[in-house]
Amino acid sequence: MANGTAEHDRTQGAAPSVEEFAATARQWLAAHAPQAPRDYGAILPPELADEGRRWQRRLFEAGFAGVAWPSEYGGRGLSPEHASAWITECALAQVPPFLNMVGCVLTGSALLAFGTAEQKQAHLRPIITGERIWCQLFSEPDAGSDLASLSCSAVRDGDHYVVNGQKVWCSNGRVADWGILMARTDPGARHKGISFFLLDMRSEGVQTRPLRQMNGEAEFDEVFLTEVRIPVANLLGPENEGWNVGMSALTNERGYIGASGISLKRRLDAMLSPGASLDPLQRQELVALWARGTALWAMGRRQGPTASVLGSLAKLGTTELMYDHAVFVAELEGPASMLDSPAATALLSAPGARIAGGTSQIQRNIIAERILGLPKEPRGGVP
Ligand SMILES: Cc1cc2nc3c(=O)[nH]c(=O)nc-3n(C[C@H](O)[C@H](O)[C@H](O)COP(=O)(O)OP(=O)(O)OC[C@H]3O[C@@H](n4cnc5c(N)ncnc54)[C@H](O)[C@@H]3O)c2cc1C
Repeated sequence: MANGTAEHDRTQGAAPSVEEFAATARQWLAAHAPQAPRDYGAILPPELADEGRRWQRRLFEAGFAGVAWPSEYGGRGLSPEHASAWITECALAQVPPFLNMVGCVLTGSALLAFGTAEQKQAHLRPIITGERIWCQLFSEPDAGSDLASLSCSAVRDGDHYVVNGQKVWCSNGRVADWGILMARTDPGARHKGISFFLLDMRSEGVQTRPLRQMNGEAEFDEVFLTEVRIPVANLLGPENEGWNVGMSALTNERGYIGASGISLKRRLDAMLSPGASLDPLQRQELVALWARGTALWAMGRRQGPTASVLGSLAKLGTTELMYDHAVFVAELEGPASMLDSPAATALLSAPGARIAGGTSQIQRNIIAERILGLPKEPRGGVP
């Protein structure tokens, strides 16, 4: 047992089947869900950082953290299907499946795919024990959808890189211990001039400033990097090949399709609650939204639990539906929805979901090019 805790014994017995594992998870969640933070989704709200860490520690001790990660790094060493079953059971129980997506999914998958033995040893276990919160430092004021145009620079100086630049929209940056950073190591190239770093957020020269959103919350930060020295040992993957590392991390969404289907179904059921008090035109509008959602839900079920380019259809469909529904509910409430009400919060929060993780316009581009086979957008510049 690590650190004298009641850590789950990862070494004994044959691997359970996915069904057995799911049943054990269901049972455990039935007993422990009341200790979980509210189901905040993929992005950890800064004010829930401590509660989230405690929850992650509990999951680790019970054997539900790093389900598909190798046991030498504290994981359970089970299959991606087991990990997917865990996420699905958490969606049914309405609890977060892990502390945050950036650490437990993006950073973890990048380390497992590209990390050196030392990097894996140093970072994987503290992610699933909840000791370290990670944030994502990709977007910049002039590089969001077109991430390859990022300009934050990392210049080699002996056994360090010296980093200067500004990042933005960094979710939970101010509570993060470490960050995954994409920075430019070759100013003469685009995609091929970017490297991927593991950054200790307590390094000298790292400054985070909260950004206030229109819903009143401040879940993300601007991050200023001034003469920050990153040891060469914290370069993940080869120099100038960080684009591949970043893209591989971003597309590692396996297992989330089933879970998002469950929350979509829950939202669809909730949507019908004001049905009795509506006039005929409002009922038609509501049913049109519900039918759209039900078609999306059916598409997700046909797709199964693995990620594919259809994920763009699901992301676009769900976030646009939630936005239209938030507008519909606000219109029903009339002027009262402009005050401090759940309808106002939903209305002011919904646009963010259409932007995070690739905007609706970018999802439409992906659907056009990769599903419909339409000609690619014209792109200029160096490779
Ligand atoms: C809630 C939330 C959390 C986030 N968390 C993080 C995080 O933790 N770390 C991080 O690095 N980033 C994060 N982001 C940033 C997010 O990835 C970017 O906001 C997103 O990629 C869009 O980039 P941008 O804001 O620079 O907009 P831009 O790329 O400047 O886009 C502006 C507008 O132009 C449109 N547009 C751009 N290019 C095209 C095109 N080729 N065709 C058609 N239309 C186009 C866009 O759709 C958009 O409407 C977060 C964003 C949100 C909303």
